[in-house]
Amino acid sequence: MRDYLKFYIDGAWVDPVTPKTAEVINPATEAVSGHISLGSAADIDKAVAAARKAFASWSVSSVKDRLDILKAMKAEYDRRAGELGAAITEEMGAPASLGNGFHVFLGGGHLQTVIEVLETFRFEELRGSTLTRHEPIGVCGLITPWNWPLNQVAVKVFPAIATGCTSVLKPPQLAPYSAQILAEIIHASGLPAGVFNMVQGSGSVLGTALTTHDDVDMISFTGSESIGVQIAKDAAPTVKRVGLELGGKSAIVILDDAALIDNVAGNTAGMMSNSGQTCSANSRMLVPFSRMDDAIAAATKAANEVTVGDPTGNVAMGPVVSKGQYNSIQEYIQKGIDEGDQLIAGGLGRPEGLDKGWFVKPTVFVTTNDSTIAREEIFGPVLVIIGYNDIDHAVEIANDSNFGLAGGVAGLDQEACRDVAKRLRAGLIGINGGFDFHAAFGGYKRSGNGREWGKFGFHEYLEIKSITNYEPA
Ligand code: NAP
Ligand code: MG
Repeated sequence: MRDYLKFYIDGAWVDPVTPKTAEVINPATEAVSGHISLGSAADIDKAVAAARKAFASWSVSSVKDRLDILKAMKAEYDRRAGELGAAITEEMGAPASLGNGFHVFLGGGHLQTVIEVLETFRFEELRGSTLTRHEPIGVCGLITPWNWPLNQVAVKVFPAIATGCTSVLKPPQLAPYSAQILAEIIHASGLPAGVFNMVQGSGSVLGTALTTHDDVDMISFTGSESIGVQIAKDAAPTVKRVGLELGGKSAIVILDDAALIDNVAGNTAGMMSNSGQTCSANSRMLVPFSRMDDAIAAATKAANEVTVGDPTGNVAMGPVVSKGQYNSIQEYIQKGIDEGDQLIAGGLGRPEGLDKGWFVKPTVFVTTNDSTIAREEIFGPVLVIIGYNDIDHAVEIANDSNFGLAGGVAGLDQEACRDVAKRLRAGLIGINGGFDFHAAFGGYKRSGNGREWGKFGFHEYLEIKSITNYEPA
């Protein structure tokens, strides 16, 4: 049982102003795995005051001091990597291989990348006689989701620290453990009191307290479109900068070539990773109509081969995060069936042999781009396959979405892949996969307006000041 009942404010572990606790549920067993305290606006006030106080000195700290602290954090992160992985498996159900693997790798990779960027980042540039200064924006409210809980915290907290900002983090209620351990790691690094603060609890209470707070300068939010819209409205009266990283319905275009069967299989299995709870997941797969039979056979086989079960064991897929998420996914599967979409793998209910835990069957439909399950983000292991006539048609379907977070193209002809990649209206396109910590991550259209990762993530936390006649001619 994990009982994480204190908040991290002004460099110390403190009790909530008003004691109140909530259970945390293990999604694989439905059993209570621990408790957190639920903060109130009064806790946010304390955390923001600490962050404001710390900003005076941290905003003018040297790059060398910040680098030393970030490097100490990285060493401590690596030392506690195993604990972080176990916490992620327990809080949101990622299989151990994924929790200890990619989840922990991402958090540490972003920290390492922030260190590398900080080593060469130009906070000042002279152009003619004008000096441009990139100055920390101030006190930042950081609000994160449960799906890649450590990654989402890492892409906000580390660049905020590196740029000289101070922050208050509100982690997800459903998955609060990895953030708690990360706060311990940050505490151990020698970061001055108040630079980073964390309050656990509900988004409607703490999130709103942050987004409406007079003394918060910036909000960085990752989560759903509807909450993102609410946050933008709540932050408007105080004219905060708001960085939004929202949902997606990304498309992968499978080209018509000798690799099609492998590409369909690989991308079907890939989409099921993390139980499909990845904002940038390619949840629409576009295949040539002329190869639809091959695609159906390959996707069905790949989905049926995904092993589902106890995430502490050797499985490819664990549960989804919660009962609410399970029910929402079941409703989408039912909707697909009701609208006449062709179910080719998975379907309603839990996988055979699993009668407890929020396990979903790896599910694949063949449909058209106007069906509900092709338009809305399901955020579960549900893939839709859509046929296309030619490349122009594929690009048109891919771009016919309210979202524009990510996408991909898979094929043997690199030139053809490049052509499709350039025509997709989305922020991150993978040609036959690929991964880069220095690439900008963020969405077009309703997938948001922010850009995280690498040097792009720094700019989220920086104001631009011009000083004219700085070096008179
Ligand atoms: P969510 O329901 O929008 O919640 C995200 C965070 O916002 C949680 O910490 C939540 O608190 C908090 N929140 C809730 N109401 C709020 C309010 N009124 N004001 C301020 N904060 C509030 O999202 P989720 O269900 O956790 O995560 C799934 C969504 O995140 C998907 O749409 C996914 O695509 C998106 N996502 C996007 C990216 C990206 O980089 N673009 C990455 C990952 C996920 P609680 O703990 O109380 O819920
Ligand atoms: Mg939610």
